[in-house]
This record gives sequence, structure tokens and C-alpha cells, in this order.
Amino acid sequence: MAEVLVLVDHTDGKLKKTSAELLTLARRVGEPSAVFLGKGVETALPVLAKYGAEKVYVVDDDSFGQFLVGPAVDALAAVVQQTSPAAVLMTTGTDAKEIAARLAVRCDGGLITDAVDVQGGGNGVLATQSVFAGNWTVQSTGTRGTTFVTVKPASVAPEAAQGAGALQPVEVQISDAAKAVQITDAQPKQSTGRPDLATAQVVVSGGRGTGGDFSTVEAFADSMKAAVGASRAAVDAGWYPHSSQVGQTGKQVSPQLYVACGISGAIQHRAGMQTSKTIVAINKDEEAPIFELVDFGVVGDLFSVLPQATEAVQKR
Ligand code: FAD
Repeated sequence: MAEVLVLVDHTDGKLKKTSAELLTLARRVGEPSAVFLGKGVETALPVLAKYGAEKVYVVDDDSFGQFLVGPAVDALAAVVQQTSPAAVLMTTGTDAKEIAARLAVRCDGGLITDAVDVQGGGNGVLATQSVFAGNWTVQSTGTRGTTFVTVKPASVAPEAAQGAGALQPVEVQISDAAKAVQITDAQPKQSTGRPDLATAQVVVSGGRGTGGDFSTVEAFADSMKAAVGASRAAVDAGWYPHSSQVGQTGKQVSPQLYVACGISGAIQHRAGMQTSKTIVAINKDEEAPIFELVDFGVVGDLFSVLPQATEAVQKR
């Protein structure tokens, strides 16, 4: 069975949930192995093995985090050369897309971005994408060599399946070219205490229908331990930061549950959320286009519906 590599998302060994998601998908394609760049593998190893990693390739070099993506590309290219995997899976994000694209060129392989599902087939891997603002769902495969796939966070619920988790240290000489751009300062953004929008399991979004008052949206989101998103109309009005915008020109989210509050369902908004597993909308206009794609719709005023929903969740 062909090997499938997963680039581990972590901070000093503390894993992000996306690593377990990618390992779950990798098991559908072939024999899953993890690639761990940096320090802290001892912390991560039991969890990686729990989600099926047979091997864990480790490249420990001080340059990760000090420079832009160059060192990660050098390290992954070395592991790919050593293992000739069918595919390498990474979590969709700005860095991952650049890493995947550079690797596809360097290793003469294929590139598929923003996948929402991955399975075996084709040239080793078949990836499902939602394209053209969500109007088409396509399946693609690379045509030669290894295929590098970025997968949207929360595309799958992680499922445990014990792997061997055998540590495989890899020696890599990071090139000077990879260290061309150094990071001189990095400030963490102020935390809202809510989950990250891109990776949250539940997202509650507000639109123009909030009239600028997001307090009921936020209260419901907090009762659900959800991230808060916003439509572009709400962002353009200055009611919510652009980093929270969901849609074609904002974040693409694919949570287990997406709740749209006072959002009409324009095509550009759908492009960012319609791959969500379950979609709920609250809108006082029963003709609103958002109701065409929802699993559950509530016709009503969000300022009346959301407090009741929040109270019901809190009682549980
Ligand atoms: P509206 O369309 O005004 O809808 C508001 C809804 O709230 C209505 O359906 C109304 O019935 C309902 N409502 C009002 N009051 C209440 C109440 N009290 N309770 C319940 N419901 C209520 N949009 C995005 O969201 N993301 C993008 O990334 C994005 N990118 C774009 C890119 C381009 C190139 C263009 C041209 C547009 C883009 N847009 C994007 C804008 C998009 O076309 C819509 O204008 C926008 O999504 C509308 O936001 P909205 O649904 O909040 O507002």
C-alpha cells in the first residue's frame, strides 16, 4: 500500500485538531505517516499514533518558524524524495498553499488546493473540491508523481485508529536560499477566547440583519463554543473585523455546523460556507435565498430566535 504523508500542524508539539483530521483522511488513501517539523515530537507522538500514523518523520531544525516557508519546503522535499508517497496532505492555509505549490514544482508532482474530501483512486489520490463560488463539485487527481493536497479544516470528523508511531529522524541540510526571508517579529493577535474561525467545528455568523448589534450572535456562539463569522455587508459596515468575513473574498469554512443569522445567502457568501456539514439559517424573510441550501431554516427575527436558542442550549 502506498504511503501517504500528513504535514503535522502544531505549536511546540501541541497538536491542532487538523492533524487528526488529515490522518483520518490519509487512511482512506494508503498507509498514513506524519511529518513533524520542529521541536516537541515527544508530546505529539502518542496522539499521532492514536490517529493512525505508522511512521513519524521528524526534522528538527532551528530554522522552522524563523524564516518564511523555505525551510519547511526543503524538509518536506527531502522526506518526499526518501519515501515517494502517493500524496502529501496539509491543512489549507496561506503557508500550506505556498508550501504545497513549491513542492509540486520541485518534486514534479500535482497540486490540489482547498479539498473537502480525499479518497483513494486516480493516480493514488482523488480529491473533492467545491469550485466556481461553490457552483460545481469536482473530483481531481494528479497525473504524475506525488500529489500535494491542501484540505480545508473540519472537512472530516477525526476517528482514532491506532498506528505504530515509529519515529524516523530525517537529517536535512536547509539551504541558504530557503532562509532568504527572515521573520523579525511576530505578535499573536488578541484572543477573543473563541475558537479559530477557519478550524472551528461550529460557526455562527451574522449579517446585515443584525443591524450592527452582534451581541445576540456572540451570546449564542458562546453557548455553542462556536467561532463568530460575518457577511461582507456586516464587515463593510464596520460592524465586525475583516478577519471574520466568510465568503469568496473572506475565509472559506467547512464546519460541522454553520448558523447564518440575518444573512440573505448571496452567492459570494455561499462560496465560503456551503461545504459545511449542516447549515441552519435564521432570517425573517421566508423568500431569502439562504433557505435554498439550508438543512434547517427558522423564519423569524434573530433578536427573538437567538436568545431563546441560547437559553435552551444553556439549560442542557
Ligand atoms: P443582505 O443581503 O442585505 O441580507 C440581510 C438579510 O438579513 C436579509 O435576507 C434580511 O431578510 C435579513 N434580516 C434583516 N433583519 C433581520 C432580523 N432582524 N432577523 C433575521 N433576519 C433579518 N459577501 C460575503 O458575505 N462574503 C464575501 O466574501 C463576499 N465577497 C464578495 C465579492 C464580490 C466580488 C462581490 C461583488 C460581493 C461579495 N460579497 C460577499 C457580497 C455579497 O454579494 C452580498 O452583498 C453580501 O453577502 C450580503 O450580506 P448580507 O447577507 O449580510 O446582507
